[in-house]
Order: sequence, then structure tokens, then C-alpha cells
Amino acid sequence: MATRSHRIKSFAHLCHPTTKLLVFDLPADCPLCGQDVDASSVKSPVAQYPSPFVSACGVPFSVVIKPTVGDFLQSYERDDNLHAGITTSKGTVYSYDETGVQQEYHRWCQCLAVPLLEESDEDLKSGWDQRLADTATELQWKKDKYHEDCHNCFDFVVSFLNAIGYRYTPHNPNGPITRDGFCQDMILPVTSRAAGYIGIHRSITKYGFLVQQASKVL
Ligand SMILES: [Zn+2]
Repeated sequence: MATRSHRIKSFAHLCHPTTKLLVFDLPADCPLCGQDVDASSVKSPVAQYPSPFVSACGVPFSVVIKPTVGDFLQSYERDDNLHAGITTSKGTVYSYDETGVQQEYHRWCQCLAVPLLEESDEDLKSGWDQRLADTATELQWKKDKYHEDCHNCFDFVVSFLNAIGYRYTPHNPNGPITRDGFCQDMILPVTSRAAGYIGIHRSITKYGFLVQQASKVL
């Protein structure tokens, strides 16, 4: 299925100068007053509304997330299953599912990313790709070991992070990462932020525009 994702733009029209209109493309006529939308009647500069979605090839050393089935913008619903993977230094995604560990470069073009490393984390970067490749060959990640609930893609991600000694939380700086803790602390905040963007995108798809009061603009 082709991914129908559009860039969201925001602008204000002369008729309601403090009201932001979110659209995919500037309309010929203002949806609020019906008058022309042109250079003289657009009150605020047309701005790109920031999207939380990225292509995995642009986010090395990250956890990436996408719906197990479908995509975020068209089909994702709040309780749908998510699929998670880890990117290499080049943005190739390693992920674990019922067919074993996959390496993919092109199929993660609309995903959410949790960057894991800072510029200064040279030690972790230098061994990252090899450790990821090594982890992928461990027996525990063979396809016959897969279990949808208790031995899945998130366990693979957390296992790799623990194997390289990754630490992320001030709550438990020296202990191993748990799957529940990881999902709560690192995945949930990212998916919650994305939910707002998904709602806006779907409203514009349905109605052609969305009105957003200036005080609510992010
Ligand atoms: Zn207007």
C-alpha cells in the first residue's frame, strides 16, 4: 500500500489573524471567510508543522517503532501492536519477529525513533554494529523461540541494550533495563506525542483543514 502522508503547513488568514489554519496545501479560498488566500491576505508566514515520523535510514543508533500491521498515519489505533527494532550506524534495522531476526533498510520509512546515543558515546558506537550482528545470531532469537507476548521484538531490543551495557534512566542507573521499564520510559512518551500529530493529520485528510487557536499552537 502506498503511504499517503502529507506535510502539514500552518498559516493565518487576514480574517482571523490569531487563528492558525493547518492544511496540506494552501487553499485558493479561506475556509473561514471564503475570500482569496494570496500573498497579501496570509497573515503569518506559512510554516511547516513538525512531523514526529522519520525514515529509519536517517536515525542511526536508535530504537525505531512502527505498527506491526499497517502504518501510523492511515490505520494505527491506540491499542494496536507495535513492532520495534534497532538501527545500525548506517540506519539498517534489526528486528525480531516470528520469522527470526530481520535486517531491513527500506521498509521503515514512516517510523518513530528513540535516539540512544550522544555524540560523545564513542565507545558504544565503535562496537555497535558488530554487537548487533552478534546478538542477531544468538539461539534465543531463532524463529521457533518467538512468542508474541513474552519473547518478542521488545525483548530483542532490551536484550541488546543490556548486552552492550546501555543505561538510560536516573531511576535505576546501574541495573539492567526491563521491558516494562523501557516501554514506559522511552516508548510511551514518543507514541503519546505522535498521537496528537496523527489526529491532526487525519482531520486534515477528512475535512481539508484544521483550525487551531493561537494559544494551542505547539
Ligand atoms: Zn479568511
